Amino acid sequence: MDRARPPHLVVVEDDPALRDMVCSYLAQQHFDVTGLDSAEALLQRMQRTRPDLVILDVGLPRMSGLDACVKLRAEGDRVPIILLTARCEEIDRVLGLEMGADDYLSKPFSARELLARARAVMRRTAFTPIAAPDSDEAVRIGDFVFVMAERCLRRGEEVRVLSTIECALLTELASHPGTTLSRERLLAASHAPGDDISLRAVDAAMVRLRRTIEPDPAMPRYLQTVRGHGYVFVPRSTHALA
Ligand code: CA
Repeated sequence: MDRARPPHLVVVEDDPALRDMVCSYLAQQHFDVTGLDSAEALLQRMQRTRPDLVILDVGLPRMSGLDACVKLRAEGDRVPIILLTARCEEIDRVLGLEMGADDYLSKPFSARELLARARAVMRRTAFTPIAAPDSDEAVRIGDFVFVMAERCLRRGEEVRVLSTIECALLTELASHPGTTLSRERLLAASHAPGDDISLRAVDAAMVRLRRTIEPDPAMPRYLQTVRGHGYVFVPRSTHALA
């Protein structure tokens, strides 16, 4: 994020009273805020602006917030998204995270809580190594150090250069330690829109990464599978999650 300008937040909510409340509160907190009333307006907007965060209501007329989220991710757009869900939309909430939303907030919520979530998501997602190849971020993974900028794993003198998909997967996982990421999300993070690669490619790349990183690839400690969901990066060796 460019520190010279305030973060740009887009709030998509069809209830004008709630939208105005959220927008004016966030503006008071010195964010640059745009309010929109539909998913269509968001998708159109996204073609010309790069907000730092989208706060997206699920219950919108015509196209739902969830469908908009799926569409953006399918197009390879990784803009941070917080979904706003009503209590009765529990299934949407789970689906939303599966479809690549970064967080969710159930209505009714306090403005202060929304602010805390917004800041947390922006902190977590501020580092986008694919768009910032000059980054010097390095993450320890077992015996290895993953040097994102060099797209490689280092262990002492040993250097293992990663393929594009391996590097993208590891970057996405290492940027969200302890967070389960769906295979769909990892796929979206690891290919350009229009590339013809499948979820199998994600699994195959994970197998290759584990062969390098894991002391026992059959019992992964760092790159764990979460059954029925996807994968999670566990920075320190722990027992398997599933
Ligand atoms: Ca609504």
